Amino acid sequence: MRTLVTGGAGFLGSHLCERLLRDGHEVICLDNFFSGKRANVAHLVGDPRFELIRHDIVEPILLEVDRIYHLACPASPVHYQYNPVKTIKTSVMGTINMLGLAKRVRARILLASTSEVYGDPKQHPQTEDYWGNVNPIGVRSCYDEGKRVAECLMMDYHRQNNVDVRIVRIFNTYGPRMAPDDGRVVSNFCVAALTGAEIPIYGNGQQTRSFAYVDDLIEGIVRMMNAEDFIGPVNLGNPNEFTILELAALTLELAHSTSKLSYRPAPPDDPVRRQPDISLARARLGWEPRVSLRQGLEITLEHFRRELGLIRT
Ligand code: NAD
Ligand code: UDP
Repeated sequence: MRTLVTGGAGFLGSHLCERLLRDGHEVICLDNFFSGKRANVAHLVGDPRFELIRHDIVEPILLEVDRIYHLACPASPVHYQYNPVKTIKTSVMGTINMLGLAKRVRARILLASTSEVYGDPKQHPQTEDYWGNVNPIGVRSCYDEGKRVAECLMMDYHRQNNVDVRIVRIFNTYGPRMAPDDGRVVSNFCVAALTGAEIPIYGNGQQTRSFAYVDDLIEGIVRMMNAEDFIGPVNLGNPNEFTILELAALTLELAHSTSKLSYRPAPPDDPVRRQPDISLARARLGWEPRVSLRQGLEITLEHFRRELGLIRT
């Protein structure tokens, strides 16, 4: 099986490339290194079944592959708001290019969509049939609406051209290989706690997220790609919901840190609550997360200790 991973040098993509090689695939990793880096996959480069290509998916590419895991898109608000026009081009033109490729070579294609398609949800927890509450003109729209269009494109290529598609909606995922300057909450809190810097709490910290450990998530993505007669969309995430203040307290405890909290203004359109209903994934994929936030944070803190040079590798 020859498998393409777009965004393969990013946080999730690099774990996925590793997993696919372990499962015996030939892996082509495509990345423009905007938010990912070569170092994330450097250890795979010697493997004769692994190929790394620098390419921007906004431009078409011709490849012969059987499967496409389409992950390329900056995922941290800091990254996707840096160049919002580029973000939406990546989701729209990039997804059209990948669907065109899938159609030409008859590959199965899986889109890494997001819980952000639910926006600031009015339904809690979120099920896949909820249409969402997204601001179409706000600062998060380049990402949220980009992914909503990407989902629409997947379904239209499926209905119109019979492309074999899969859609997963990923909820907040964390773990080793998140960059220290990624900007998402888990990496920010880990780095601040380990270096003694203030823990930045946006808003009052009562907003919630549900955090999935990367290994659990990758297992769900792979199961979805391999599922027959089920195209999704399917929620993948850990249903255990925490306030941002609870996450801060747990991070401080596990890092044995005395960092102080520092309250900052809430970013515009910051969703108030988020929790996946994963009944569909349980029923159709036999999947559910196994790693608790406490266990996953321990491993992630260890990663950041090494990354920050606080312990020897
Ligand atoms: P990431 O930023 O670490 O990875 C994204 C990768 O895509 C990076 O390597 C980046 O360089 C690459 N990329 C971006 N634009 C590109 C382009 N135009 N051409 C080629 N490559 C490009 O983020 P991640 O957390 O690994 O997220 C991966 C995917 O999963 C994204 O599509 C994201 O929307 C989705 N997702 C992630 C989460 C999460 O919590 N990690 C949640 C929901 C959805
Ligand atoms: N957040 C925070 N401090 C940070 C980074 C994020 O309080 O240093 C908050 C942010 O306002 C949001 C939540 O944590 O309510 C999750 O933010 P993240 O950027 O990780 O993901 P997303 O908002 O896309 O779910």
